[in-house]
Amino acid sequence: MELLKQRIREDGLLIGNNILKVDSFLNHQLDPQLLLELGREFARRFRPDGVTKILTVEASGIAVAVMVGLELGVPVLFAKKKQPSTLVEEVYAAEAFSFTKQEQVSVCVSRRYLTAEDRVLIIDDFLAQGAAAKALVSLVEQAGASLVGVGVVVEKAFQPGGKELREAGIRVEALARIGAFTEKGVEFV
Ligand code: 5GP
Repeated sequence: MELLKQRIREDGLLIGNNILKVDSFLNHQLDPQLLLELGREFARRFRPDGVTKILTVEASGIAVAVMVGLELGVPVLFAKKKQPSTLVEEVYAAEAFSFTKQEQVSVCVSRRYLTAEDRVLIIDDFLAQGAAAKALVSLVEQAGASLVGVGVVVEKAFQPGGKELREAGIRVEALARIGAFTEKGVEFV
């Protein structure tokens, strides 16, 4: 998606040799107009697939997931990283190693909101090693729901997550695919 690539070129910052910082529009400060456009693009790609629920993980996936849910007219469920005391009902849970935080996190959703009748679209901000997406896929599988696909704003194609998910037969749609970080900046696939 050209609008997104342009924004990444203009405002993205490289940290080390494999982290892209997009705090000015996606991960900290949010650009609602851009998020709406991202939501519209995901909705355009997945509209024919009968999605009944968007699933994401807190916190960075929520904003874009809400835009997709708004466009498709379906609820948005975000997995929680710690089971809060208010979530007393039974949950589906999965483990993921956080790439940016370098720690193991557990994600969970209430069984009440993810059911075998659901056709689920997973949305997240980044796809890198694929741990977060795989944990969400596991929640969908535990619920016996159907997985329509995975939509990510940015896929770092030089990391294995996208390839592994596609090899597992999962449809992965990325709005920007980064092939490499070079001295000149971000190189898109
Ligand atoms: P994965 O589980 O695929 O390795 O990483 C997915 C999660 O790590 C994303 O939800 C995102 O929060 C974070 N992440 C991975 N790579 C990057 C990156 O280059 N920049 C930012 N801002 N977050 C990243």
